[in-house]
Amino acid sequence: MDFEFTEEQKMIRQSARDYAQRELIKDVLERDAKSEYPAHHIKALAELGFMGMLVDTRYDGGGMDTVSYVLAMEEISKVDASVSVIMSVNNSLVCYGIETFGTEDQKERFLKPLARGEKIGAYLLSEPDAGSDATSQKTMALDKGDYYLVNGTKNWITSGNTASTYVLIAQTHPEKRHKGINAFIVDRHSPGISLGLHEDKMGMRSSDTHSVMFTDVKVPKENRLGEDGSGFKFAMKTLEGGRIGIAAQALGIASGAYERALKYAKERKAFGTEIINHQAVAFKLAEMHTRIEAARFFCLKAAWLKDQKQPFGTTSAMAKYYAAETAMYVTTEAVQIHGGYGYVKEYHVERLMREAKLTQIYEGTSEIQQIIISRAIMND
Ligand SMILES: Cc1cc2nc3c(=O)[nH]c(=O)nc-3n(C[C@H](O)[C@H](O)[C@H](O)COP(=O)(O)OP(=O)(O)OC[C@H]3O[C@@H](n4cnc5c(N)ncnc54)[C@H](O)[C@@H]3O)c2cc1C
Repeated sequence: MDFEFTEEQKMIRQSARDYAQRELIKDVLERDAKSEYPAHHIKALAELGFMGMLVDTRYDGGGMDTVSYVLAMEEISKVDASVSVIMSVNNSLVCYGIETFGTEDQKERFLKPLARGEKIGAYLLSEPDAGSDATSQKTMALDKGDYYLVNGTKNWITSGNTASTYVLIAQTHPEKRHKGINAFIVDRHSPGISLGLHEDKMGMRSSDTHSVMFTDVKVPKENRLGEDGSGFKFAMKTLEGGRIGIAAQALGIASGAYERALKYAKERKAFGTEIINHQAVAFKLAEMHTRIEAARFFCLKAAWLKDQKQPFGTTSAMAKYYAAETAMYVTTEAVQIHGGYGYVKEYHVERLMREAKLTQIYEGTSEIQQIIISRAIMND
């Protein structure tokens, strides 16, 4: 056991912290209010190497480990989870998927610009009738010889408009059910792709979320990822890693809310003393702090297992489940500690509470994580 971070990991955390506390904080409230895409921040994070952190340096990535990724995700999410979700999808779903399952040619053409952050990726799995039940894919990708013909609708797609590169999951052989699913790399500007309206979300409002419609879109055969029929495995494997990113995001949201609540409790006076001196408030903070520490250990353990190339799927499900529940609990208590001031935008905790809610829903709801964990213990 070693609970110390390396010098490199500490440097990466500091660099993410500096950027978040100095730059992201400046316009986070305004972007949340206007649902404004954080283009200049994504460019700056790309320059810091944060859009392709985990990608091998051979493919222009940062060559960093997953522990560093968790540390960076936590720091960015403390201030702005709209930015960290764009970072997370690009890193742990799109880049990881192409690097792990792609051919050398696909890595050369698609991974390199994504790893440099010059292009942004989106991950298209969910459909109007296929969310938790991802096997029920209705989007069809029919084999037409040297290309696939894609028809169907994906929804809730993070970076649906701003991405240049889509990683699409679709059904090729419906009779084979989940064994007939494929994953593809698709140019977002291919003829036949159209977008639904920008979703007006509760939280993470400055990330762009769209439905994406495919009408007779031709995807070259060489853009399929992996063997024919391996798309469901692709989706499950990428989501295993993706959950570490969302767990770290939830951890960051919780830490951000906790830090604000602690500061406020030391300043705000009621009944002649700072409210932290009221045991009910101090115990709330003690509970918040304890749960955050536990969530942090979970995230780091999942990341460490992945870095050691050991199985990490159940641990990443536990990390995502626990961190998301912690984020919801901690942000709700942070609003409570702020009293009326917690209910207005200026103090940030209501925004963090809205952001926390999404971590219980996407990349597998809390209930789906419980299913993954319970199946694993049944087989123990
Ligand atoms: C803002 C946002 C961004 C997103 N970004 C992306 C993205 O970039 N790419 C992408 O592909 N998807 C994305 N998603 C989709 C997200 O992953 C799904 O919303 C999520 O997986 C849940 O699916 P659903 O909404 O269809 O809910 P459903 O699957 O219909 O679930 C509804 C409820 O039923 C529960 N439930 C379902 N099945 C079971 C079961 N077997 N046992 C117990 N409870 C169950 C669920 O836990 C949930 O509480 C995003 C969603 C949002 C809201």
